[in-house]
Amino acid sequence: MKSAPKVVVIGAGFGGLAAAIRLQARGFAVTLIDKRDAPGGRAYVYRDAGFAFDGGPTVVTAPFLLEELFALAGKKMEEHLTLLPVDPFYRIRFHDGRVFDYTGDADRMAVEVAKFSPGDVDGYRRFVAESQKIFAVGFEELGDVPFSRARDMLKIVPKMIKLRSHLSVWRLVCKYVKDDALRVVLSFHPLLVGGNPFTTTSIYALIAFLERKWGVWFAKGGTGAIVQALIDLFISLGGTLETSTEAEELLVEGGRVAGVRVKGGRTLPATIVVANGDAPAIYRRLVPAASRKKYTDSRLDRLQYSMSLFVSYFGTKKTYPDIAHHTILLGPRYRELLDDIFEKKVLASDFSLYLHAPTRTDPSVAPPGHENFYVLSPVPHLDSGTDWAAEGEAYQQKLFESLEKSCIPGLRENLVTSRFITPRHFADDLNSEKGAAFSIQPVLMQSAYFRFHNRSEEVDGLYLVGAGTHPGAGLPGVLSSAKVVDRLIADVDGTGNTRDPIAGSHAG
Ligand SMILES: Cc1cc2nc3c(=O)[nH]c(=O)nc-3n(C[C@H](O)[C@H](O)[C@H](O)COP(=O)(O)OP(=O)(O)OC[C@H]3O[C@@H](n4cnc5c(N)ncnc54)[C@H](O)[C@@H]3O)c2cc1C
Repeated sequence: MKSAPKVVVIGAGFGGLAAAIRLQARGFAVTLIDKRDAPGGRAYVYRDAGFAFDGGPTVVTAPFLLEELFALAGKKMEEHLTLLPVDPFYRIRFHDGRVFDYTGDADRMAVEVAKFSPGDVDGYRRFVAESQKIFAVGFEELGDVPFSRARDMLKIVPKMIKLRSHLSVWRLVCKYVKDDALRVVLSFHPLLVGGNPFTTTSIYALIAFLERKWGVWFAKGGTGAIVQALIDLFISLGGTLETSTEAEELLVEGGRVAGVRVKGGRTLPATIVVANGDAPAIYRRLVPAASRKKYTDSRLDRLQYSMSLFVSYFGTKKTYPDIAHHTILLGPRYRELLDDIFEKKVLASDFSLYLHAPTRTDPSVAPPGHENFYVLSPVPHLDSGTDWAAEGEAYQQKLFESLEKSCIPGLRENLVTSRFITPRHFADDLNSEKGAAFSIQPVLMQSAYFRFHNRSEEVDGLYLVGAGTHPGAGLPGVLSSAKVVDRLIADVDGTGNTRDPIAGSHAG
């Protein structure tokens, strides 16, 4: 009898967790390692003074991608996890005081659009219809299939031309609505996956329809409850989890993966390695230079990296029931601020913020009578040269001051606890190139075939999942990347030789 192929998954972010579950469910022997002391990656949970602060993702969409993981183990997700609907999806507050409640309900959305510009209601409806068409191709048709070969890309070019994928999300939106504020409302989604709406391919306009189709959810207990449920699922299938274990080198023999050497010198033998760390960093730091023909250091340097984030997690001893679960607080500038962040890479004195108030949906994430918050400010990645060790505290105070004026009066008087992360966190704790929060940007020339391939073209037996790989960042993207990898290695024959079930050709 052949023994089960040994798999090491490097990184317990959502992509790594999903890949580990899928491969363990196939009967492979999976060891999931992470350098941090707890799993989740960007979805790490900080616990202070009775508060559970979700470190990253809070907008849960396409929940069927999570349901599938439980189904693989013959389980029902609802017996392990409760997802609560969030309404409105987002409350968008403009600098001039106007408010747009963004929901998944066509009629309510038409009323909101009419509040801003009655003449744009028809254009808005046509934009939604366009978003649906893009969704049908970009998500349903292509979101979970590999783009390993140039011909995979060539096949879809005619559809991409028809859908105008060469346009940015902003330019696409401008073709449908005239009001500038509505253009902002309909174009901000790329920021959720690390893209500038002015340069992100309009394929990402699919997010608007994806949210409408399946809703926006929040897990009871926070996103950390999803991570815990997935860990429990993985362990129940017989998988092994090792935290505080950092991969330092991919061991390669004759062009094939042989295992992983971890900090401290221990070796984990493997016939398959799935890397969930930041894709460019995996190539630069773990794959021996002798095995890298495509992803040389100079090529990795030339990629366009996403913006980073400053996030402050704080709790108050007072509740603010008028604040929605997800609020976007727009500053005075939109295009110019994005230009500072993405192109000029300078830390601006103004900002636009996302405020997370999960207590609105689930009071259990704060002590009784208290409120749990995080405020997130998109900032340039580390090429800005900002000295965050020196600037961090002052920046947090600036955000608090702004929130006191806009929507959390008395914030600092009622503060119980606070902590923050800066771009240094993404670089130092999460091993991400340039401290980018979402790996490489979702521009056209870094999407699909042009993104990091899910099956490495450098080392046989190496697969990649997560934000830097196809299809991209965000929970639906990284969960789909695990599905792609699962499909690619479904036919492993025990020696580690792999066959791409879609092409039916041997890659090993
Ligand atoms: C603040 C914030 C808010 C967000 N909000 C949302 C949201 O609301 N909705 C949404 O869908 N998406 C959101 N996102 C994006 C989403 O969180 C990410 O795209 C996604 O979680 C990334 O998952 P991943 O699989 O790429 O792994 P990551 O979460 O990046 O995890 C990778 C893991 O690999 C580990 N690792 C790296 N190198 C090594 C090594 N050498 N050895 C061992 N371990 C290693 C790291 O420690 C880490 O745990 C947000 C992101 C951030 C930062």
